[in-house]
Amino acid sequence: MKLTFWGAAQTVTGSMHELEVAGRHYLLDCGLYQGRRQEANERNSRFPFSPSNIQAVLLSHAHIDHSGNLPGLVKNGFSGPIYTTSATADLCRAMLADSAHLQEQDAEFLNKRLRRRRALDPNAQGQTIQPLYTAEDAEKTEPLFRAVELGTPTDIGPGLRYQSYDAGHILGSTSMVLDLSDRPRPVRLAFSGDVGRPGLPIIRDPQPLPPVDYLILESTYGDRLHEAIAPVKNKLAGIITRTANRGGKIIVPAFAVGRTQQLVLLLHELINENRIPSIPMFVDSPLAVNVTEVFRNHPECFDEEVREFLNNHQDPFGFSRLRYVRDVNESKALNDLHGPFIVISASGMCEAGRILHHLRNNIGDSRNTVLLTGFQAQYTLGRKIQEKQAEVPIFGEPMPLRAEVETLDSLSGHADQHELLDWMKPTTPTLRKVFLVHGEEGQGKALAQAIHERYNIEVLQPARGQSIPLA
Ligand SMILES: [Zn+2]
Repeated sequence: MKLTFWGAAQTVTGSMHELEVAGRHYLLDCGLYQGRRQEANERNSRFPFSPSNIQAVLLSHAHIDHSGNLPGLVKNGFSGPIYTTSATADLCRAMLADSAHLQEQDAEFLNKRLRRRRALDPNAQGQTIQPLYTAEDAEKTEPLFRAVELGTPTDIGPGLRYQSYDAGHILGSTSMVLDLSDRPRPVRLAFSGDVGRPGLPIIRDPQPLPPVDYLILESTYGDRLHEAIAPVKNKLAGIITRTANRGGKIIVPAFAVGRTQQLVLLLHELINENRIPSIPMFVDSPLAVNVTEVFRNHPECFDEEVREFLNNHQDPFGFSRLRYVRDVNESKALNDLHGPFIVISASGMCEAGRILHHLRNNIGDSRNTVLLTGFQAQYTLGRKIQEKQAEVPIFGEPMPLRAEVETLDSLSGHADQHELLDWMKPTTPTLRKVFLVHGEEGQGKALAQAIHERYNIEVLQPARGQSIPLA
């Protein structure tokens, strides 16, 4: 029994852990690594193990940094089952197709640039780039999903039983408990996935886990305490009113999954309560349109608040002032629209997608506001904007940043330090070791110290490639 950390090790993205039980190999998550371009390409295109040797994948949730390299795994020979919830499988169908499209677009953009350079100088250096994976690879991944209901123990292979719990992070998100019994003394391992916050809009609160021997725990906000969720609505109302009053636009980079739907629900409530000016609002993302449809199809994941909304015959994900934009020409037409409006578009860390056009057209104007709504990883454009750098690169060109920049941290889908400590408490009576993942080094260190102080349990921050025997 052995655990090897291949991704989200002392960093936030690329969640991927390899578990060996009874001589067979399994993956917990298979996420895309995001960060510096070359390093990301390198890591995502070369698996540090043979994908055809992996028996099954246990997937915590649909976010791309957890699921985004599944088509790459399939392209490289994996053909086993992918166990997860039905909502996650449906979200992945939409998201992996979108991700494949972005990969193809990205490669095409770079190859075009190379061809132009070669036309000018036949000796220009550079290689034709293959997309990380294609739409076809994403399609081949679809039939591998096996939907398992929360709380249903499922045998995955000899000596490996899996059971999932609601992680309260995004629709369909799970934490998982794995019973490993290929030795006389069985071992219970838990993987937190990404842990949400109690009281988040739309989805239910994170479920407590049973006592376990080992815990792989995320640490995204391990060094921080969030603001309470309730005042977020006041802050949002304030930002929208202030920007609209000075004739500006509100540009909102948001993850198409989860954050967009939360924002739409909050905007809907603010409109109902007459607390923001009546300006046009757009969700400009074909992925968000598809994902919102998946949300509508999975009411079993909703909390009481949304159920009540539904009972009042209101659509929690749409209202008269809001338009979903699927068509690319309609999206471009937004560039010529005058006067205040709100546009929500992906990606949340401003790495790709239509948000780049909106940022390019609007960040130079001090009347506008860029409203960041989630964690911004190191080296991403979102992080540069959050740091209010005087110039930020968009499509390879430096652009002056004059717009107001605001962050709504408390909408975060991730538990903060106190919430993580509370969440892990039920696991601690038998807990022997905690492995911290999915956090930059500083966040991990702060959380490690807090866990040690509160529970006196050994905490490791494994490096990439580090293997740990579980006995
Ligand atoms: Zn996540």
